[in-house]
Amino acid sequence: MKSKLTSALILAALIAAVSAFARAQERVIPTPSPEPFVPTPTPSPVVEATPEPEGPQTVTEYRWFINSYKNIRTVKASYYDNVFAVNHGEYGLTPFAADVPAEYFIEDEQGYLAPAPIVLDVTNAMRLRLYGEDKGELGLLYGQFCERASDGKGKTGFTGIHEGIDFLNAPGAKLHTIIDGVVTRAGDSNGTVAVYNEFYDVTVLYLHCENIQVRKGDVLAAGVYFADEGSVGSGSSYAHVEMRWGRHTSSNAYRNAIVESDCPYELMRVALSVEASDVQPMTYAAFVEAETARLAAEAEAERLRLEAEAEAERMRLEAEAKAKAEAEAAAATPTPEPTPEVKLVDTLPGSNDSGYGFAEQSPTPAPTVEATLPPG
Ligand SMILES: [Zn+2]
Repeated sequence: MKSKLTSALILAALIAAVSAFARAQERVIPTPSPEPFVPTPTPSPVVEATPEPEGPQTVTEYRWFINSYKNIRTVKASYYDNVFAVNHGEYGLTPFAADVPAEYFIEDEQGYLAPAPIVLDVTNAMRLRLYGEDKGELGLLYGQFCERASDGKGKTGFTGIHEGIDFLNAPGAKLHTIIDGVVTRAGDSNGTVAVYNEFYDVTVLYLHCENIQVRKGDVLAAGVYFADEGSVGSGSSYAHVEMRWGRHTSSNAYRNAIVESDCPYELMRVALSVEASDVQPMTYAAFVEAETARLAAEAEAERLRLEAEAEAERMRLEAEAKAKAEAEAAAATPTPEPTPEVKLVDTLPGSNDSGYGFAEQSPTPAPTVEATLPPG
């Protein structure tokens, strides 16, 4: 045990010595064993060029965007961009950083990748620990390209890699330590609570916390309530959980073109004794199926709504017509206006069979009443 700790310390020193580039290389994950988990990184030799990651890759506009976006200094960001991931309840093909090992993805029949079941198992175990109960949901995953921005020419794309895992429950939900350790930071503009675990030589950082219950130096067991889920330093309420090998007091700039935190899955799998289950990830095919069903249900609901609306309108018009008819019937029978007696008068004199106007001519012709049209 002592030699292991010693070698761990030496290796930790080696980690610190290697360049940031080498640090970004895939860490060799120790094979699971019944012995206590001790991270044993194998520093990769520094090479000149960024090697392409193993596994499926496609070239999309995202790659173009990453390569051309002016704020992205590191242009050679390799990632899986045909990965299907659930993203805050929004589904999409979201690129992932190449820092996430290929083993954490599975390929479906269509050739799309989805987070592997073990990722869902591990994050589920983390969620249960974090909330202390079966509440909340998984948001963004580690290494997922997340921040969208515009290049000013009408093109938007992903500009940052997620440094941790987001969990969403509810504003004010109680947060509990996922693993034990000593508090190295308790509050800042990002609502950071950092807990360093000496055994694994790792720091777990919880961001956006409110109502922080602990102070720097506090030693916390696993599963201890330490803060509330909040929105400090973020636009909405959720818990961002990030992992970094070594002792840290804060997270760095937390969204960059290169992921700076460490992949938490293997450590969390070991630390939380996660057994692989048969949980099925959301694959592209599953998504299409679910989405098709959702759209069909929506269309059917809309059809029923319109049908009900039309029926209601029909009944309204019917009732209106009926009421109108009744009102008319109930109204007093209108007395017809007396029509002026119109008498057509033959003004020709002598039209009375008495000859041709030469006999019995009236000295004063009868007054005439002219027929007039009613006003229009
Ligand atoms: Zn986050």
